[in-house]
Amino acid sequence: MASDADCVFCRIVAGGIPAEVVRETERTLAFPDVSPQAPVHVLVIPKDHRADLDAVVADDPELAGELLRECAAVADHLGVREAGYRVVTNIGAQGGQGVFHCHLHVLAGRQMSDALG
Ligand code: IMP
Repeated sequence: MASDADCVFCRIVAGGIPAEVVRETERTLAFPDVSPQAPVHVLVIPKDHRADLDAVVADDPELAGELLRECAAVADHLGVREAGYRVVTNIGAQGGQGVFHCHLHVLAGRQMSDALG
């Protein structure tokens, strides 16, 4: 499905919900998380609706690679790549996913703990 009218991230892609664009490519968009968990907290998403990273990997592995490259590009763009950053993606309800449109969290600007969950 290219777009889902009920999906909050599809609505951001369509411009119906405002978001400050951090980076944009033909197939991806990066914008700040509305509830930041670190000084830098950006979400990188495919513009087309995909439920999660699993679906992207299955349907379009090149897009999965592009999403990961965009995380590094966001870190570069915001000047945190050298210090280090964290990339997280939650898959499914038990994985902690709340918005069912694939997104990668890019977190930086503070020391991350070694706890993963
Ligand atoms: P998840 O728990 O990995 O699915 O993360 C979903 C993220 O989306 C959460 O960190 C939310 O704060 C974030 N979020 C939800 N709605 C919006 C929005 O409208 N703009 C930006 N971020 C959002």
